[in-house]
Amino acid sequence: MISNSEILEAVQKARPVFEKIQSLYQRLPETTCDCGEPGTCCAFLPEMTLMEALQWFQVMQQMPDAERVALIGKFVEFYLTNPIRRTGCPFLSEGHCGIYEFRTFACRAYGLWSKTMGQARTNQSREEKMRLVKMWQRYGIEMVPEAIVNEMDYCNHVGSKSDIKISDKRLMAVLQEIYLLDKEMADLQTKFENEYYSDFSFLVASLALSTKKAVLGKFAVIKELSRSGTDQRLKNLLSQIKPDRLASTN
Ligand code: SF4
Repeated sequence: MISNSEILEAVQKARPVFEKIQSLYQRLPETTCDCGEPGTCCAFLPEMTLMEALQWFQVMQQMPDAERVALIGKFVEFYLTNPIRRTGCPFLSEGHCGIYEFRTFACRAYGLWSKTMGQARTNQSREEKMRLVKMWQRYGIEMVPEAIVNEMDYCNHVGSKSDIKISDKRLMAVLQEIYLLDKEMADLQTKFENEYYSDFSFLVASLALSTKKAVLGKFAVIKELSRSGTDQRLKNLLSQIKPDRLASTN
């Protein structure tokens, strides 16, 4: 598993890489949205690479303590309840992104994919969720279909502010370059992908609670929520968070 000291060290080492990621992001156009409901598309945590996750840790380490503590609580709650509750990306606040400058490639590319590619990606994500539903069923937890969060089919409200000609091929090329940056920390990348399924909220919950407590706690929380609708176990776990584990030492 990944320890807090590994994260601290990796964030330090990755600083030059963060600049490369930012310059790759510049190859994507700034976007506009005319849906009138900002934040609707932020119902889930975006997919991310290891280096993008480390960028987020850096942002969190630099926050004032109270802000970081509140955010860690949101991530842990998101992780513990996301199969059943629609809480949205923890960085979402009143329809605005709280980490806009460091939002991931997935956030930036949302709505820029062609309809065919956009729908294919949505379908893939839904299939993953169905696998999750079946996993919970194996542990005796029946999730109410309406409670299982779902995402929209395809968003056609996103426009481009610039003349950069965008295509699936271009988006894939940028994504590939961002992904390749993870190779600089191949061991950590393998752990992030294989042990945490590239789920930032799982990693935060593991660091703030311990992996065992996070995983077992999630089962207990989902069981209670799906059977009785109460959240005593959730409150109990949230009270056990150790936010200092995610603080910077400098
Ligand atoms: S990081 Fe920002 S843009 Fe991306 S899902 Fe979260 S709130 Fe939305």
